[in-house]
Amino acid sequence: MQTIFGRILSGEIPCNKVFEDDVVLAFHDVAPVAPVHILVIPKREVPSLAHVEQTDAEMLGHLLHRAAEIGKEHAPNGFRVVVNTGGDGGQTVEHLHLHVLGGRPLAWPPG
Ligand code: AMP
Repeated sequence: MQTIFGRILSGEIPCNKVFEDDVVLAFHDVAPVAPVHILVIPKREVPSLAHVEQTDAEMLGHLLHRAAEIGKEHAPNGFRVVVNTGGDGGQTVEHLHLHVLGGRPLAWPPG
């Protein structure tokens, strides 16, 4: 079954877009947990970080580089990139995504 991010990618439901190229789409999270909360997702449907292969290295580098560019632009005082993975990891949408969080000091460790 298609995920909510798959439906965003197909244009079926809208998003508040930050960036798009051939490989990734970035958009504001609908329920932000920080003043800056942007999601960076691959256009290819990969369920999670636990599903990537060595052959995905270029795509992963592309995603991480874009997260860094977005973080620098939107949260110049610093930011955090999070990839929730699986049930205990807190993943709720089964389409790989990077959270870019910032705009306030972020506690560590996370709860
Ligand atoms: P995770 O819990 O790591 O799987 O993150 C999924 C994220 O997707 C959550 O932070 C949700 O708030 C966010 N989300 C769910 N639906 C939408 C949507 N339609 N547009 C933007 N963000 C969404």
